[in-house]
Amino acid sequence: MRVDYHMHLETGPLTLEYLERFWRQAQKAGLDEIGISEHGHNYKQFRKTMEHLWTGQNTYPEVVQWLEKDFSRDLDEYVALIQEGKKQGWSLKLGLEVDYIPGKEAEIAALIDAYPWDYVLGSVHFLDKWAFDFSPEVGWPEKDVNSAYQAYFTALTKAAASGLFDSITHPDLIKIFRHRPTISLEPYYAELAAALASSDTCVEINAAGLRKPVGRIYPEPELLVKCREAGVPITLACDAHYPEDVGKGLDEAIELARSTGYTQVAIFTGRQRTLVPLG
Ligand SMILES: [Zn+2]
Ligand SMILES: [Zn+2]
Repeated sequence: MRVDYHMHLETGPLTLEYLERFWRQAQKAGLDEIGISEHGHNYKQFRKTMEHLWTGQNTYPEVVQWLEKDFSRDLDEYVALIQEGKKQGWSLKLGLEVDYIPGKEAEIAALIDAYPWDYVLGSVHFLDKWAFDFSPEVGWPEKDVNSAYQAYFTALTKAAASGLFDSITHPDLIKIFRHRPTISLEPYYAELAAALASSDTCVEINAAGLRKPVGRIYPEPELLVKCREAGVPITLACDAHYPEDVGKGLDEAIELARSTGYTQVAIFTGRQRTLVPLG
């Protein structure tokens, strides 16, 4: 099956017409099924779990400016829209991309349990109050790259171990601006793969990195090999933020999956996983 389980409506309106543009592009790209995975932080229901990121001490002005204006939409409307799209006969899945915030597991679980998701992606975009993927100018100039990588993989391994999510998304996003650590990442990869395996969580192959400064798919092949050896299934993603990016880079993502020993991809209905042959 050819599937893309990661895309966002956030740059357009929550309307059936806009959603249809994603489905039409999916058909053009030869996809059998797509999953929409809006960010939790687009929705007012997530405000309380993330409020600390733009309030209090040690905030980043650019991040504050962005987050203050976010959290404006209503999850009920989003869920109703995807259900309406399914009724049109479009092969859609209802997903969500949720930031893993250490210490907020119970609040996140309650929000996940309140809606009929087909699947939930877990991600790390924040290290404390630092949105490390916002810009190379924000936070990076004063950070130690090795420490940033260590903090990132520690947080991601916690997200994987939490068991809150069906798949962990763009699992080496920290490389986005081409900062490279001098330490070996091998032990971090091993820990992450073990946490994914023990919580029965998938790992995502995400082609969006090809469109970012790093110019590489997330994650590196070495991490995928560790995941495959640990028996961790994959989900596939292009992470479109515009309809025209649906399915973009999917062939490269599938090629990477095959080259690291994968023959199947996970799909979901009502958070029940099925493994199907890679398309
Ligand atoms: Zn993301
Ligand atoms: Zn995303």
